[in-house]
Amino acid sequence: MKINDFPSHIQQYLIPEPSGHVVYQCLGCHAEYDISQLLYTCPACGSVLLLADLVFDRLKKIPGDTWHQIFDYRRMLNIPALQGIYRYHEFIGPMMPLDAIVYLGEGHTPMVEANPCLQDLVGARFYFKNEGQNPSASFKDRGMASALSYIHFLVNSGRLSDVLAVCASTGDTSASAALYAAYLQPRVKSAVLLPHKKVTPQQLAQPLGSGAVVFEIPGVFDDAMKVVEALSEQYNVALLNSKNAWRIWGQESYSYEIAQDFDYDMGHKVVVVPIGNAGNITAIISGFLKFFEAGVINQLPKIIGVQSTHANPVYRYYLEPDREKRSFVPVKVRPSVAQAAMIGNPVSMPRVIHLVETYNEKAGKQAIFFAEVEEQAIMDWQLTANRNGHIACTQGGESLAGLVAAKGRGIVSENDVVVLDATAHALKFAGFQEMYFENRFPPEFEITPKKALQNAPRLVRPKDLDAVPTAEKPLEGKDLERFVKQTAEAIAKTLKLVKRDL
Ligand SMILES: *Cc1c(COP(=O)(O)O)cnc(C)c1O
Ligand SMILES: [Zn+2]
Repeated sequence: MKINDFPSHIQQYLIPEPSGHVVYQCLGCHAEYDISQLLYTCPACGSVLLLADLVFDRLKKIPGDTWHQIFDYRRMLNIPALQGIYRYHEFIGPMMPLDAIVYLGEGHTPMVEANPCLQDLVGARFYFKNEGQNPSASFKDRGMASALSYIHFLVNSGRLSDVLAVCASTGDTSASAALYAAYLQPRVKSAVLLPHKKVTPQQLAQPLGSGAVVFEIPGVFDDAMKVVEALSEQYNVALLNSKNAWRIWGQESYSYEIAQDFDYDMGHKVVVVPIGNAGNITAIISGFLKFFEAGVINQLPKIIGVQSTHANPVYRYYLEPDREKRSFVPVKVRPSVAQAAMIGNPVSMPRVIHLVETYNEKAGKQAIFFAEVEEQAIMDWQLTANRNGHIACTQGGESLAGLVAAKGRGIVSENDVVVLDATAHALKFAGFQEMYFENRFPPEFEITPKKALQNAPRLVRPKDLDAVPTAEKPLEGKDLERFVKQTAEAIAKTLKLVKRDL
């Protein structure tokens, strides 16, 4: 719809001008830093940073109803810069001029309600929000759209040139970083560091295809992260891990979309998210808090963070009920099918600790919970979901397993409606499905396939056929007729098909 066709009272809001006063804020010493440079940790105390808009309060002057109209009408506006995460421009990078925004189709992923069969099995009303439908097939694109738009902005304004973007990754960060960097080539190039043999073949193919320089590093993600941190401290590179606060900011769009998709009614809503480096849960908490503070929503949903027993440092931290006695201890990870979340020392832990406290305070009760799930449950629930029409990855299976665990502990009640984060596309993790189907999991995974969830292709080759077609030698005439007839009969027999009356 064209701008003049919208109701006149809303027209002035629809195409946002750059606004706000954005700074980096240190979570440790509360120092503030100018955003004219790329900064990842506090130069004074070394803590992680978040971005803050110092004049955020101006957004509170616009009534909630007006915000609803702004976002709902923006849905109908055909301006590429506002089609993705920047539909919420005032809340995500408000200083960004629209011509700096990089839009590759990210965000506004569908919420797909589970069918009655699956809801009955789980005993809860729930949706999957399919983050695998982002351009590089994971939610990481939300953060990259923000980080690369910002880099694009710095490049456009002459404050940065010849950018080399680097990241360590469990697979999806590098796929996303390489994709967005490729869009901005030649001014932006990317190099990614992957733990050797700890990403799936599909995830490895992605940055290679985007033309990134790909390094494989011995060890696990946490080791690759240390190397990339050393690089970013000593050399002139742009770090694209979630230590980069611009990533977090873009990922807050996930919460805004959920709010909008429920018509801003967050009463009796629950959001379930797997935790790896803890960037995503940080963003989700922060997003809901901002909408709540600005009066866009009137209630805060429950949030449940899920970890595998094989990589559970955040879950363990919150096992201690007394917050004074809690202390963070990194864990040594074990092999996990939720490989994208297989992280023992999450970079965003200080952000989580800070935001969980604020969130619970604002909610007036405990509203953030943590659950732990077995590898077996992750696989079983992923496959069960997908046998009911979903495209959940293993981390999506972890979300569903987390819902089941949380339900068992009474965290989710009868009239709650739940949104599960299916963080990537199932196809990226097809190898784990294959290992399940072929019963090839090494013992450290602790997964025993259930027969009912296994599947395998069946080769049809009727025994008494003399000739079968090949690509080089197609069949013709009688040979083709016989082949078609006997093959169809073999399939009909396997499927126990009933002959049609002719
Ligand atoms: C990165 C990732 C996670 C973990 O998210 P964090 O922000 O690191 O906690 C989970 N699932 C998938 C598919 C991912 O790519
Ligand atoms: Zn500091």
